[in-house]
Amino acid sequence: MTGNITWHPNLTYEERQKLRNQRGCTVWLTGLSASGKSTIACVLEQLLLKKGYNAYRLDGDNIRFGLNKDLGFSEADRNENIRRISEVSKLFAESCAISIAAFISPYVADREKARALHNEVGIPFIEVFVDAPLEVVEARDPKGLYEKARAGIIKQFTGISAPYEPPEIPDVHLKTDLESVEQSADRIYQHLLKHNLLRPLNDKNGLNGIQCH
Ligand code: ADP
Repeated sequence: MTGNITWHPNLTYEERQKLRNQRGCTVWLTGLSASGKSTIACVLEQLLLKKGYNAYRLDGDNIRFGLNKDLGFSEADRNENIRRISEVSKLFAESCAISIAAFISPYVADREKARALHNEVGIPFIEVFVDAPLEVVEARDPKGLYEKARAGIIKQFTGISAPYEPPEIPDVHLKTDLESVEQSADRIYQHLLKHNLLRPLNDKNGLNGIQCH
């Protein structure tokens, strides 16, 4: 199907970073439902925006109801859900935004594919494990989903009737039963700072030296 597609000449990721004066990356939040992914993603997004960085959050609200509204929760559909999100997040990151993807993403293999997709083109991918014990998230149950899953009303619910494979070596490991939302968002922010992902590129030369390839 892709045989007839030709790539147009474009700026490289590095050249775009210089012009935008910002590095793009994907911050990928994975964890059980109600572990705190969306809440932390919102706070992180606002923190970064207030500091002047371009950040954008991808989550169930803007993906599951739009781009992926044709997908369900079978293993194949979850794989496809994450594949599409990975591609979209990579595009945001390539545009030099800090893309914050907050999805259960229960399978290691899918998250590793997302990482590989980014790494292939030199875009940083930061995996954040938003961790809390099942008892804690089930007690939170802000949308009543665990109750419905236990009652068998919702099938294939992660942690109850579908598997969750935790990251073995996440870049950031948050324990939301032990730390506040603000502490969690700040820990991700500090990780980005420490790894020079938020460093403004001061050698901005306008269009000098920038060529289309
Ligand atoms: P997810 O996106 O992982 O499904 P949400 O962010 O939608 O989870 O919901 C998590 C719920 O847990 C929210 O109601 C939030 O206020 C609550 N919560 C309590 N403590 C924390 C914490 N330390 N970090 C994140 N969320 C927390």
